[in-house]
Amino acid sequence: MESDRPFSEKLEVPEALTFDDVLLRPKESRIEPDDADVSTRVSKNVELNIPILSAAMDTVTESDTAIGMAREGGLGVLHRNMDIETMVAEIERIKRADELVIDRENVVTASPEQTIAEVDTMMGQEGVSGAPVVDDDDTVLGIISGTDIRPYLEVGETDEVREAMTDEVITAGVDIEAREALELMYEYKIERVPIVDDDDTLVGLVTMQGLLQRRENQDAAHDGDGQLVCGAAVGPFETDRATAADEAGADVLFIDCAHAHNLNVIESAREIKDAVEADVVVGNVGTSEAAAEVVDFADGIKVGIGPGSICTTRVVTGAGMPQITAVAEVADVAAQEDVPVIADGGIRYSGDAIKAIAAGADAVMLGSYFAGTEEAPGRVITMNGKKYKQYRGMGSVGAMKSGGGDRYLKDDEDGEEFVPEGVEAATPYKGTLASELHQLVGGMRSGMGYVGAATIPEFKERSEFVRVSSAGQTEGHPHDVMITDEAPNYSPDE
Ligand code: 5GP
Repeated sequence: MESDRPFSEKLEVPEALTFDDVLLRPKESRIEPDDADVSTRVSKNVELNIPILSAAMDTVTESDTAIGMAREGGLGVLHRNMDIETMVAEIERIKRADELVIDRENVVTASPEQTIAEVDTMMGQEGVSGAPVVDDDDTVLGIISGTDIRPYLEVGETDEVREAMTDEVITAGVDIEAREALELMYEYKIERVPIVDDDDTLVGLVTMQGLLQRRENQDAAHDGDGQLVCGAAVGPFETDRATAADEAGADVLFIDCAHAHNLNVIESAREIKDAVEADVVVGNVGTSEAAAEVVDFADGIKVGIGPGSICTTRVVTGAGMPQITAVAEVADVAAQEDVPVIADGGIRYSGDAIKAIAAGADAVMLGSYFAGTEEAPGRVITMNGKKYKQYRGMGSVGAMKSGGGDRYLKDDEDGEEFVPEGVEAATPYKGTLASELHQLVGGMRSGMGYVGAATIPEFKERSEFVRVSSAGQTEGHPHDVMITDEAPNYSPDE
């Protein structure tokens, strides 16, 4: 159909900006970075203590990363390049990680007839230093620990457990709270308290190690049952994965799609939303029109069309939206329905992350920033004496071949070659997730200090941008010097 509109009008284009184009305008402040409260909402019903998510990518988030993220107050989003059963097991692992009471099925127990040598080997294999002793009906008879049996001083290795165990066991009921458990342990100088029902049947276990872990992570993000929060990516048409992840206890499901402004995707996302209890975040979008299509049912909206470090969407397809403008456009629409916004991709420094929040995001999602950490899937490789980990786009050939291709709507069923929208790369090995998060969140808090905002909502309101020229960008990085010692939060773009 011919239109009367001259093509030359298309060249009267609006400007779209990204991270390097803007800076936060410093303002009067009484806020010290340590006083800045960075808690936020990632979706309508899920709160976090830090505004950070790890990306649903197979070189970034499996259960180890998700556990680490939630312990620090953020959210890990499991990737979906794994079958549904594996994803369910991963969710269950995250949910169990810092539970106060370990469920019966996960408690290692001994039987009174086992020999000391057998129980010693079993505890070594299971990685526990003690075990409740139960009979065939699961009635608690005693408790055996490493100190009871090693180094076989009082008992021989062929003696039975019943001879070495402590039979005056301190137990507690299911409604025990962390403080009471700790008091019991201090009072009786014990390391574990079996949890029993009215018939003395074992239903769980509280350990000192578990209690200390919970104490160490005071800022952990928990669900209503006190378990770590967990996110999971589901394909836009994967209702079966969505319901399985929901039943396994995922708190937030992320409709994982490169272009969610696709009417079939939106219809299916609505159906998924109706079928699950978990919050449903819809993405990715990059415009106000797309946001308007999903804002009535989405519990969160994720923004990012092509900003990712490993992403080639913009060069391959010619489409995309610079991220600061994309976030601001979507946030304008989302604010009308009070729906949280997540800025996904392109964040290299803590400064980028806090700029995304100033543009209207409630939380940010990062891939490359975390791919080099200990917790990320994949092994450490050494090249020219330096350590690296693999990092690849979910639309790269490698990731698509191992199952993740439909995010980028490609398949090779006809034996045709993939048309990738991402690359496979290596990223420097960085150590622990906790130390990366410390730098990231520390930089964001300082940004809040420069703007004089005590909370994320206040910061979103109070922050203003200035536009930066290319000379200003150069000025903003270390210049005219040769860096001699690497900073923990800055490495020059190579
Ligand atoms: P990063 O933090 O590394 O800059 O970006 C991570 C984000 O890039 C992911 O959360 C996801 O939205 C996006 N992404 C992951 N893989 C690909 C890909 O292969 N192609 C594109 N276009 N985006 C990707």
